[in-house]
Amino acid sequence: MPPGARRPPQPPRPRSSRSRPSPIPPRRRKGPPVTENPKKPGPIAEMLAPVAGFGVTFANLFRPVVTEQYPFEKVPTKPRYHGRHQLNRYPDGLEKCIGCELCAWACPADAIYVEGGDNADLPEGAHVSPGERYGRVYQINYLRCIFCGLCIEACPTRALTMTNDYELAGPTREGMIFEKDDLLAPLREGMLAGPHPMVEGTEDLEYYRGEITGPTQAQVDWVRERRPDDASLDAAAKATVAAPDANGGTR
Ligand code: SF4
Ligand code: SF4
Repeated sequence: MPPGARRPPQPPRPRSSRSRPSPIPPRRRKGPPVTENPKKPGPIAEMLAPVAGFGVTFANLFRPVVTEQYPFEKVPTKPRYHGRHQLNRYPDGLEKCIGCELCAWACPADAIYVEGGDNADLPEGAHVSPGERYGRVYQINYLRCIFCGLCIEACPTRALTMTNDYELAGPTREGMIFEKDDLLAPLREGMLAGPHPMVEGTEDLEYYRGEITGPTQAQVDWVRERRPDDASLDAAAKATVAAPDANGGTR
């Protein structure tokens, strides 16, 4: 370039970080450079390699089998397993649920729906449960239930408990809403199907205190007069007991 001449304008340098030298020095790797296969196995190790792959399989061959052949073999659950709910009965066949809705209020998943009814609305002094009220509608939605057991803790009459039944799958959503008939405990031998009057001379307190031990002859006669074809009559007639007296004994 002749002296005094001006330099032609230079194109702007790119402002990329790549063009600048990094202030951080490159890290140096310690030790010898890594090779692809530093220790090549010998011919015997190579020959045994496929067998070594089965080491875990061979080690488990002679251990006890833990596979459960469900549903062909059903393994019992632990005694306190939380399974399907059950609505229980008193020994004379009356239902324990009084339709108070406490279980529905306690449920964190809003899975229970209860509608109470008045025993006074039933004809001729009949009762579904002791006392004033009974559970007219009772539903549990097993699509919501998380089997926490809070509902059974809330129940004041121990009407609601949980069984060990865990087979709760179904093909429809509607079918997973269990109605009262699905949840009600079956009549045990000697129980008299309701509705029928309470044991003569008793209040609901005698039922809550466990003083009712079976149907009385008066209850059997009442049902025989109105429902002579009731399937529970014969067994209940053989299992009649005396009504408790005011002192906790029997009349
Ligand atoms: S077990 Fe828990 S989630 Fe299920 S109905 Fe009872 S309170 Fe609700
Ligand atoms: S199951 Fe128990 S808590 Fe629920 S409505 Fe019946 S009596 Fe009340």
